[in-house]
Amino acid sequence: MNGERRAPIDVNALRTLSPPMDSEPIVLVALLVAVACAIGAVGAAFTARRRLRHAEDEAARSVEELARREASTREERAVQDLILRSMQEGVLLFDAAHDTAFANAALERHLGAEPASVSQLYPVDLREAVRRVAAEGTTITMEIERTLPDRWLRVTATPAGEGAVLLVVTDVTDARRTDAVRRDFVANASHELKTPAASIQAVAETLRSVVDTDPEAAHRFAAQLEREALRLSRIVADLLDLSRLETGSELEDRVRLDALVREEVERSNDRAREGGVSLSVDAPNSVTVTGSARDLSLLVRNLIDNAIRYTKPGGSVEVSVTHAPGTGISLVVRDTGVGIPRRELDRIFERFYRVDRARSRETGGTGLGLAIVRHVAENHGGSVEVRSELGAGSSFTVHLPALA
Ligand code: ADP
Repeated sequence: MNGERRAPIDVNALRTLSPPMDSEPIVLVALLVAVACAIGAVGAAFTARRRLRHAEDEAARSVEELARREASTREERAVQDLILRSMQEGVLLFDAAHDTAFANAALERHLGAEPASVSQLYPVDLREAVRRVAAEGTTITMEIERTLPDRWLRVTATPAGEGAVLLVVTDVTDARRTDAVRRDFVANASHELKTPAASIQAVAETLRSVVDTDPEAAHRFAAQLEREALRLSRIVADLLDLSRLETGSELEDRVRLDALVREEVERSNDRAREGGVSLSVDAPNSVTVTGSARDLSLLVRNLIDNAIRYTKPGGSVEVSVTHAPGTGISLVVRDTGVGIPRRELDRIFERFYRVDRARSRETGGTGLGLAIVRHVAENHGGSVEVRSELGAGSSFTVHLPALA
């Protein structure tokens, strides 16, 4: 700044250099103009520098903003990539030339391979769908069946602008299977309920016709009516238990399994005696599990009930509870009954599956007992297994985890 400071004007010195006296005012004016111009020039330079600095700041801000946007675009792209990679649905984008523009990892899992273009798309039905979507601009949803492995896929083809088409492929095999199981179950349950209901109706009509004329027959029909009504209410009770168990068990009790088993054996003693079957229990030690006392009783009751029903007079049923360190808790119900053919062993836990339908019905079975047993065991984090020899007997073992 010091260098910029101007020296004061030495008027006398100016005078010696200056022209005669009459030209002095002009010189002064000229000097003042020159000084004013110099001041103006300095001001202009200052303003220009300020503008330049402003422009530089603006530019720096724009660069920063650009960098910020680029970073956020990169982040968004990374998130999109992550989503597309971790999606269960397959995603496939065809460009206007029908070449593959994008495919995620799930797509290959669903379709078996990533096609390079529409013409490599399998099954062939999909190619037609993509072409129609591109031409008509409408969305098409279809379900297709793949073999090896057998899967059902739902494919939605959507126009993605300027001739591009987006395919989203969802595996619906499990949903279809669940639907089929549910449909079968409803059909079976309706059938099971229809039989005793029809029987009740027929017996009631016959009863009405004989009640005045044949009191003995009336007694017989009334007893039959009672049996059918009992059967109907047993099926309904088992169905209600099963539907409750399907949503899980309330595992809130500390259950003394040895005591529970003794109680259930006690309850079944009369029935065993009636059937000529000896029933014994071996639960010498205290065995405690966390779970639902109500559901565990249901499990034990169903196993004992089956063992008695499928054992001929003179046979025996043994129930035992053991807790071996390291292997958890085992509840075993063993009988010397009719046994189960080997090929049927996998199916007996299915709802309404019976090896011998007539015998099951005759002995008051509903076909739901073992399905209930399996549900209770699984709800308690356990499992159930069966060993059987036709004509020699069966042994059902329920494994339960020991108390933590
Ligand atoms: P059910 O009410 O018919 O007994 P379950 O679901 O309890 O239905 O059992 C399914 C089928 O498994 C039975 O119909 C029967 O054929 C067979 N089963 C179950 N327990 C025994 C057993 N202890 N001995 C022989 N067969 C059995």
